Amino acid sequence: MQTILARKNFNGNLQTGNNISRVMALRCLNCLREYEPLSISYCCPVCELSGSFDVIYNYDVLGATFMNSLKECDRFDMWRYQILLPVQRPLRLNLHTGGSPLYEFEHSGCGQVLIKDDSRNPSGSLKDRASALAVAMAVNQGFSTVSAASTGNAAAALACMCATQNLECIIFAPSKAPREKLAQIKAYGATVIEVSGGYDEAFDECHRRSNENGWYNRSTGFNSYMSEGKKTVAFEICEQMGWRAPDKVFVPVGNGCIVGSVYKGFQELFLMNCIDRMPKIIGVQAQGSDYMCRVWEAEIGPHTGKIIESKTGASSISVALPRDRIKALRAIKDSGGQFIRVSDAEIYEGVVHLACGSGVFAEPGAAAAFAGAKKLGAFSAEETSVVLITGSGLKDISGLVNSGALGIDPGSFRLKP
Ligand SMILES: *Cc1c(COP(=O)(O)O)cnc(C)c1O
Ligand SMILES: [Zn+2]
Repeated sequence: MQTILARKNFNGNLQTGNNISRVMALRCLNCLREYEPLSISYCCPVCELSGSFDVIYNYDVLGATFMNSLKECDRFDMWRYQILLPVQRPLRLNLHTGGSPLYEFEHSGCGQVLIKDDSRNPSGSLKDRASALAVAMAVNQGFSTVSAASTGNAAAALACMCATQNLECIIFAPSKAPREKLAQIKAYGATVIEVSGGYDEAFDECHRRSNENGWYNRSTGFNSYMSEGKKTVAFEICEQMGWRAPDKVFVPVGNGCIVGSVYKGFQELFLMNCIDRMPKIIGVQAQGSDYMCRVWEAEIGPHTGKIIESKTGASSISVALPRDRIKALRAIKDSGGQFIRVSDAEIYEGVVHLACGSGVFAEPGAAAAFAGAKKLGAFSAEETSVVLITGSGLKDISGLVNSGALGIDPGSFRLKP
């Protein structure tokens, strides 16, 4: 494999003295060029925005060390897996991030369905894992301001983590961003800059202003390190299952970062011989936001699908062109899994079924994974499925009420007579 030493990326040098020998290389998923560990800050300098990279560790050496490091660690949160994270100083934020429970969903079929409840993170979504890592990396590199473009959970997570560190947080939000999520972001003390247009406009503005001002940019699809925080959820699932891999893992898909990260987590455990096989990764999309389903079905590669305006009430997975589509497609193909779509009606039914049946209250974007598991027969198949619940139902109460799934009148917020 060709190895190119990056001296400078298009945003300047990575300001770090952390040269971590555990990390072997950064490999661009688009052009497959390899770079020196931590020599680039965000994405491949050649491919730019279409070139997010993998952080590659020395798995041969790390296998035994990894298991030993867990024996010595008495806490169950994402920093438990520090040896496989791109930080030298873990910067233990005082908020408990990751280490979420894995419950069995009781039902009458013969399938085993396990619920990984990541709604229990500090700001209420799995995005906290990535934002905690972003903040650790920013602090280690001496940044005082962190930025992101986001319509909701990623921004709330970043604002939350910044609040623990006296870091300034600047969020670029599209003017259509859900109001409730905006309130949470503001409550954590972040500066919100409204950008007219959608996520793309907010993303570009964030990119430009961060470059100009020297802010650390956490935006998904730009900051390749975010997968590293998110993959810890796969480590936890396997550890909670006694180092067995489930048969299937159901993951909701918007930009595709989570599904790609979940795959990478399992893959790393497999490469270190901690598990003896890979689970099939099932990516679940909303019917009205199904770019990945379409390119996977048509076998046309990640870049050539038709971009169709997204239409779903599940705002966290409402994306016309997924930013992490290379990683997402790889997750499904390499694990022998599949993409499936669920309707908004199935999603809201999923919210209620999951809540009634287990006490876990998911936001619509997260409940899509549960709806997908139902649809694919997880209750009746003789296998173990894990459903990843990525965010809390408290994040989007009005969406649920408006869906009509509860018999509450959206106008008055009272029970319908
Ligand atoms: C962000 C998010 C998703 C989708 O993750 P992607 O990485 O964009 O695919 C799903 N559910 C919740 C609750 C989220 O916040
Ligand atoms: Zn590249």
